[in-house]
Amino acid sequence: MLTLRTLPVLVISTVLSACGKDPVPPSPSPAEPAATTAAASGNVHEFKIGELTAYALKDGDFLIPNDGKIFALNRSPEDVAKVLEQAGVPTTELSLSIQPLLVKSGDRVLLFDTGAGVTAGEAAGKLLASMNEVGIAPASVTDLFLSHAHGDHIGGAFDKDGALVFPNATVRMSAAEWDATKASAAEDEKRAALVQTIASKVETFAPGAEIVQGVVKAVDIKGHTPGHSGYLITSGTESLLYIGDVAHHYIVSVQEPEWTIQFDQDAPTAQASRKELIETNAASGQRIYAVHFPFPGLGKFSHEGERFVWSKE
Ligand SMILES: [Zn+2]
Repeated sequence: MLTLRTLPVLVISTVLSACGKDPVPPSPSPAEPAATTAAASGNVHEFKIGELTAYALKDGDFLIPNDGKIFALNRSPEDVAKVLEQAGVPTTELSLSIQPLLVKSGDRVLLFDTGAGVTAGEAAGKLLASMNEVGIAPASVTDLFLSHAHGDHIGGAFDKDGALVFPNATVRMSAAEWDATKASAAEDEKRAALVQTIASKVETFAPGAEIVQGVVKAVDIKGHTPGHSGYLITSGTESLLYIGDVAHHYIVSVQEPEWTIQFDQDAPTAQASRKELIETNAASGQRIYAVHFPFPGLGKFSHEGERFVWSKE
């Protein structure tokens, strides 16, 4: 969604901290047992994909003002407000969650995106705390699948000193996304440091490649960034589609997929991808994991009259 090079991440986190709206409750006291901690925080959701155990892990929240600068560039804030009002949610701002996905598969620990790390201030960067709640150490992650290299997806791969947070993980991203990431390093010091740190860990893949035999397949979803990729995670007859940033908001992006979003690098292509992905998966009933929809981001697209809607699990 956001790049390390662009302003929105700063604007959004400033807005959030200025409003003092951090929906994450304070941590329980150390005296409380771990089980209570996990249940109380609401930052972890355990579920199954066939035989696989998976966790939605809360990283943070962004609040985006409905000011016509990010959502629906080809529409007015009033148009956006109308859609939000019909859904019964506040019309002055759009709330986006961030929840990376973790899947255990045999002796492998698969992490899909990393949240924002230190790139978004107090708004995000809680992934490691969420992992800790379920007893998963960063060093145990064997494979890191990046949907794309925007700050709220790759930022959590680095600590405040720029060192790797998941030192044993192979970093998997599409070849086109890695090429674009390396190209961006030429004009940005932070980006250059990121590329240098991660380079020896990166293994690229072609669109649609089967990356983990029988378990993880890349799904080409064009437009948001040069090599944006979703992932289909399969176990037996069940599957889950990790959609990355093809859709950001669970109401506006789903009901009006052709509205232009500032985050989309190639907006017309992204809009076509969004519409097609929602239509196709509403028809098939595919189970979806949406990294920016309300926590835990699990659900399906479906028809409601002439439009599509998000139905959470
Ligand atoms: Zn994003």
